[in-house]
Amino acid sequence: MLSSSTSTLRLHQPNRPHRSHPAAPAAGGATHLASPRRWLGHAPGAASPAPLRARAQRIRALDAAQPFDFESRAAGLLEERQRLKIAIVGFGNFGQFLARTFARQGHTLLTHSRTDHSALASTLGASFFTDPHDLCECHPDVVLLATSILSAEAVLRSLPVHRLRRNTLFVDVLSVKEFPKNLLLSSLPPDFDVICTHPMFGPESARDGWDGLPFVFDKVRVGDCPARRARAEAFLNIFEREGCRMVEMSCAEHDAHAAETQFLTHTVGRMLAMLELRSTPINTKGYETLLRLVDNTCSDSFDLYNGLFMYNKNSTELLNRLEWAMDSVKKKLFDGLHDVLRKQLFEGSPHAPNVSSSNVRK
Ligand code: NAP
Repeated sequence: MLSSSTSTLRLHQPNRPHRSHPAAPAAGGATHLASPRRWLGHAPGAASPAPLRARAQRIRALDAAQPFDFESRAAGLLEERQRLKIAIVGFGNFGQFLARTFARQGHTLLTHSRTDHSALASTLGASFFTDPHDLCECHPDVVLLATSILSAEAVLRSLPVHRLRRNTLFVDVLSVKEFPKNLLLSSLPPDFDVICTHPMFGPESARDGWDGLPFVFDKVRVGDCPARRARAEAFLNIFEREGCRMVEMSCAEHDAHAAETQFLTHTVGRMLAMLELRSTPINTKGYETLLRLVDNTCSDSFDLYNGLFMYNKNSTELLNRLEWAMDSVKKKLFDGLHDVLRKQLFEGSPHAPNVSSSNVRK
């Protein structure tokens, strides 16, 4: 049985781990353990190995005086089980940004991209594969699609997925969600798990960390067995551990919201960039916000922005509304101006400035 896609917004609230005690188990581990403490707790039906159970009893008897740090060893074991082998396909700006955190958390990284990024990959301890066959033959737990929206279909089709393990987890991080969901479901074998995600931050906006930043995800298809559920949780836990605000939401809902939160923001940033705004000696806080918006949006590739437009059906309507809003504001200003001029011309207001005929539009 497969878990189905959700249609309502829910905040994902699994046990948020203490940084040094990660919570979710890894794909390889068959037992789901919510925290290291559950190793000690004899939960009904828990399948903890006998030697560990025996040690746990000893710990209870001795309270805190331990001959060795059992709890930290248990935590270490869990940490080990949480480690994933992640293949990043599309190792550009965003793929590299994610890889830094994945590497810091101790995951094994395999990477592949159109361009040879092997030098950069090696600085992160990641392997770089020019040939996707070699990458797939390494049997990653997770394949993370981080290529541009526009190239996603071609890149996915170029992967020899038959060389992967039968129930590999595919995750995408594209900034639109319905398009990759349909693409992954229609292109991948039915045994593969699929999670569509959108980390709603990037190298600029999250340069000081991911704490509190939204991470949207939709568990589109996760096989109903403990190891597959555990693998999905272990992947999501990467973002949770960094303090992301986990938002479970359907891909369709994401796209409806993202037209406003994202496409609008990028469009305004790109419009302001056309004005070639400069810093001045009298910058207000508002003006500095605009300057930052230009930086935050224009540092992303035009392909990314174009993808937000092309592959989110809500973007065209948003663009039309933006044009309407600009026209409405302009109209309000010019209507007011015309009222003043008409009053002057036809009623001779005593306070009106002296407007020469050359200033009045014919
Ligand atoms: P991008 O321009 O959207 O994508 C760049 C990546 O796509 C590079 O790896 C590039 O390969 C690859 N690519 C582009 N055209 C290709 C083609 N014709 N064939 C094969 N590969 C191609 O910029 P990005 O910022 O790195 O974004 C990557 C993905 O993450 C996008 O889907 C984006 O929507 C998503 N995302 C980005 C951000 C962000 O803040 N930047 C945030 C959330 C999600 P090369 O390695 O050869 O350059």
